[in-house]
Amino acid sequence: MVGPFFYINSWKLNFRGFLYLAEPNENAEKQLQFLTSRVGHAQIFDKRFPNTTIEYFDFPRGRVVFDSEEVRHIIYIDNCIREKADKVAEIFDAKHYIVEKDEHYVCKNCMDDKIWE
Ligand SMILES: [Zn+2]
Repeated sequence: MVGPFFYINSWKLNFRGFLYLAEPNENAEKQLQFLTSRVGHAQIFDKRFPNTTIEYFDFPRGRVVFDSEEVRHIIYIDNCIREKADKVAEIFDAKHYIVEKDEHYVCKNCMDDKIWE
């Protein structure tokens, strides 16, 4: 399965854990050899937290994509939750996968860290 995910630990949102949308590969969009969900992070965040003023991009997140040429998943994940990639693989039923960074998936904290580097 493929799709976007968050790992949220927030007392303001009263939420701790993964927020995700896992779509079967058959429903995914094909971009070159990659299968990816059309669903965006904002969509799943706004649906789960319709009344919050907190921005979705504050939180660590990533996306699971399937590479049909290499026949494996790619887990794009924020640095600060990289150790949770195994759990993400479990959720998305990814048996073979690689873990990658992506400039889109950088949370507020990681962004702030970068400024001070
Ligand atoms: Zn982060």
